[in-house]
Amino acid sequence: MRKVKSQIKPLKATRTAKITFALNANLCQQAENWLNSQWTQHDYTYSSLSELIRKGLQAYQEGEIEINLTERDKNAPKREITVRFGSNPDLLNFYYSLPYSQRTAIIEESLQVYLEKLNAKELEKYVKVIEPKPKPQPKLTPYYLLNFICDKCGDEYEEDTAYSYAPSVKEINKYYTYCWECVK
Ligand SMILES: [Zn+2]
Repeated sequence: MRKVKSQIKPLKATRTAKITFALNANLCQQAENWLNSQWTQHDYTYSSLSELIRKGLQAYQEGEIEINLTERDKNAPKREITVRFGSNPDLLNFYYSLPYSQRTAIIEESLQVYLEKLNAKELEKYVKVIEPKPKPQPKLTPYYLLNFICDKCGDEYEEDTAYSYAPSVKEINKYYTYCWECVK
């Protein structure tokens, strides 16, 4: 296999602040799949892979995410991605402040972790949607009965109102009945 001397190729056109990275192709594909899923839901928060990469690096810069460079698979197939930093000179300066030999690794890992974070958020949204509503509490219904015994206090009543969770009077014997004193 050809040895890649440097994975970072700062382009000469510094005015536009474009940097081309050779990034894990599988990771790029994952990021693009995620973007596509957002766009099909009409969510255009992130407009491109380049933007996701910038947001990942920014999250790392701001200490929002933690990355582990040892987890990186250096020999994974690569894909060249050009990222524009023109709109964010701060981020570009941060990038150049990183150790030269770790820059691509940091870009890759930031993207990976940032994407995981976005996915977790996504999942949270989904869980909220499917969360079951609390079951309605059964209601006590008053029924006028010729006679009944209150299941709480044991008193006997004649021609009085009994309270029951029974949905209809026909089912009254399947449920406990309470006198008015025991439900107030
Ligand atoms: Zn009672």
